[in-house]
Amino acid sequence: MSDKTAIVVGAGILGMATARALALKGYKVTIMEKSQQSLGASIRNFGMLWPIGQPDGQLYERAIRSREIWKEYLSDAKIPFDTCGSIHLAYDQEEQDVIEELYNHFSKSQRPVTVLSPTEILNKFNGINGENLKGALYSNDETIIDPREGIKNLPAYLKRYYNIDILWGTAVTNVTINTVWSFKTKYNADLICVCSGADFETLYPSKFKELPIIKSKLQMMRFVSKDTNFKIGTSVCGGLSLLHYKSFTASSSLDKLKEKIEATLPEYIKNGIHVMVSQNDRGELTVGDSHEYALDFEPFDNQYINELILNYLKKLMHIDNWELQQTWNGIYPKMTNGDTDLFLKMEPGVYIINGIGGNGMTLSFGFAEEAVAKI
Ligand SMILES: Cc1cc2nc3c(=O)[nH]c(=O)nc-3n(C[C@H](O)[C@H](O)[C@H](O)COP(=O)(O)OP(=O)(O)OC[C@H]3O[C@@H](n4cnc5c(N)ncnc54)[C@H](O)[C@@H]3O)c2cc1C
Repeated sequence: MSDKTAIVVGAGILGMATARALALKGYKVTIMEKSQQSLGASIRNFGMLWPIGQPDGQLYERAIRSREIWKEYLSDAKIPFDTCGSIHLAYDQEEQDVIEELYNHFSKSQRPVTVLSPTEILNKFNGINGENLKGALYSNDETIIDPREGIKNLPAYLKRYYNIDILWGTAVTNVTINTVWSFKTKYNADLICVCSGADFETLYPSKFKELPIIKSKLQMMRFVSKDTNFKIGTSVCGGLSLLHYKSFTASSSLDKLKEKIEATLPEYIKNGIHVMVSQNDRGELTVGDSHEYALDFEPFDNQYINELILNYLKKLMHIDNWELQQTWNGIYPKMTNGDTDLFLKMEPGVYIINGIGGNGMTLSFGFAEEAVAKI
């Protein structure tokens, strides 16, 4: 047993994935988390493990590796997950052109995709609105987890298999070489990784001012269906989502679709809205989202944005039977220079690992292994 020690700041998915990767390299790891439980972006998301949004190459492979680790953990902890894939529904010719091009593109790299006809969609899945439906891109790569359960139970798994400890309610107030301070208490470690998510300004205010990084606030809703047996059978997206993910820029018709959406749905573009639905094992339906970009946000949710999301959702699904249970928002940091993550050596043995944007559930486990391999 090695006697190397590491401290990770932050018990979100990126901090816990980093702790796991460090433990695999022989470190005795302690995570320090300022809250009494993980309350950041990692419990506020859709729980979509989303390879379809990642371009071919390193990012797609990272998503597949991360999914493998999620499944290993969730299976061991007996937490349900759904390998239900995803559909992107097309309701006009511009959307249909994009999904057909994406099908050609993804199938060349052996991804498990098909184009479904309206009849196939309505036969295979429940609750989809068939009116004006032209087709859909179905992908079998996506997995849905319940992020609240998945994140809440991860610490026990990390303790059991990797001997990782978490000090809850321990705000880190300063970091120097080999030393982490929580107010007047000092902790020593050979290696320190700061995975503080959207709270990036507390520990390194001046560094973060000069970095190309911003925060994004997303509005979310949770519904239940009055029909307790209702199961969609997949996770659902529409044309707006085709504009959202990097991997979809492989379609040459995307610009034409973007022009059309900008002209017909300007409020959606202005509020960064694209509409997605995931369903967990208890049947609850998570719906979102919008994207506001700034360094600080008002804490209040905007009902107008939720109405825009729901109006668009009605085009995709029959939702008359759904009851609203919860609304919330989540915030994550995102790189503004096109980078998909931030890995920064601050001083000897001190690293910042952050900036994974809207893909942290999909990519963190794989990214953390790659980042730790570079240390
Ligand atoms: C609404 C929403 C929907 C999303 N949907 C998806 C999705 O479906 N699929 C997907 O792949 N990704 C999704 N994402 C993105 C994903 O949730 C994030 O990329 C990921 O959770 C970021 O993880 P993190 O560990 O960096 O941040 P966080 O989960 O925010 O964790 C950071 C932790 O650091 C702690 N911390 C900060 N400063 C200190 C300090 N000084 N001392 C001690 N502790 C500290 C915080 O308390 C917090 O617990 C979504 C994000 C949001 C907000």
